[in-house]
Amino acid sequence: MRCLVTGAAGFIGSALSSALIEDGHDVVGFDNLSTGELDRLDDLRDSESFDLVVGDLRNESDVNDAVANVEYIFHQAAVPSVARSVRNPRLTTEANCLGTTNLLTAAKDGDVNKVVVASSSSVYGSDKQLPNSEDMDVSPESPYALSKYWTEKLALQFNDLYGLSTVALRYFNIFGPGQSPEGEYAAVIPKFVNLMLDGQRPIIYGDGEQSRDFTYVRNAVDANRLAADSSVEGEMFNVACGQRTTINELVEKINEILGTEIQPMYDDPRPGDVRHSEADISKANELLGYSPEVGFDEGLERTVEYFRDYHN
Ligand code: NAD
Repeated sequence: MRCLVTGAAGFIGSALSSALIEDGHDVVGFDNLSTGELDRLDDLRDSESFDLVVGDLRNESDVNDAVANVEYIFHQAAVPSVARSVRNPRLTTEANCLGTTNLLTAAKDGDVNKVVVASSSSVYGSDKQLPNSEDMDVSPESPYALSKYWTEKLALQFNDLYGLSTVALRYFNIFGPGQSPEGEYAAVIPKFVNLMLDGQRPIIYGDGEQSRDFTYVRNAVDANRLAADSSVEGEMFNVACGQRTTINELVEKINEILGTEIQPMYDDPRPGDVRHSEADISKANELLGYSPEVGFDEGLERTVEYFRDYHN
């Protein structure tokens, strides 16, 4: 099949593009290289099955060109990060809401069999009974969370309104090799692993007892493949491991793997961050056959190994 992966130069999009090519598909990668990095595509660019289109989701004609002749779309491109969206809500909204509208419109006007869009656990918000399940009300607490809710809701509306086959995947804190450790908006695992490999103390925002359902990237890739292959449409699914780890425990586990005893430092909590997240993954299991192949501990070990090599 011929696939379009938006955000192909990003962390998840590049891993997904590689997996689709390994499966024997042709992939058009689309990215504006804002947070994307060409290095992530080094192994793909010589492949005859891969084309990279540098374009912007906010630009209708870029999107229309990219969507022409594709059968499946995996929509990973977005301006990620809750904190970035609190600083610059307009950037997040334009890329994630307008960009998704352009993409879905091009898909409905084209000959696309299915669109799988990336949503986020942040749509649930705080103060929810745990684990979060798809039948709970959403409560987006940041412009980013709202834009992800918009993304999934619009995708499901296009299913109902225009018969475009769509599925939304609510990712819960995806981590793994290739995730950027740099910059103020870096995700917690690559940032902490990278700092601690250098012997530096990571900063925890809040008391460290906030928790996340950390999910190794291979599991998110598998969920996308299953969603595309399945006849299920018009549904959203949690994609996670189904267990939660506090940020204090995360630091302990990284210390164990590295054989260090680095103590974190603490600072004020960040606005917009949810307190806990943990997924009920039974819907994805029952309807898509999803189960996480790589658990948190194994994923963390693989990630530390990757960053150790990256450091040397
Ligand atoms: P990433 O920043 O590594 O990848 C996003 C990619 O989108 C980048 O390559 C960036 O250059 C590209 N992009 C941004 N704006 C664009 C635009 N206007 N036009 C074209 N390309 C654009 O982030 P990621 O962690 O790989 O996230 C992928 C998707 O998964 C995003 O939709 C994100 O919201 C979602 N998600 C990620 C996580 C996580 O833990 N990583 C959790 C929940 C949801």
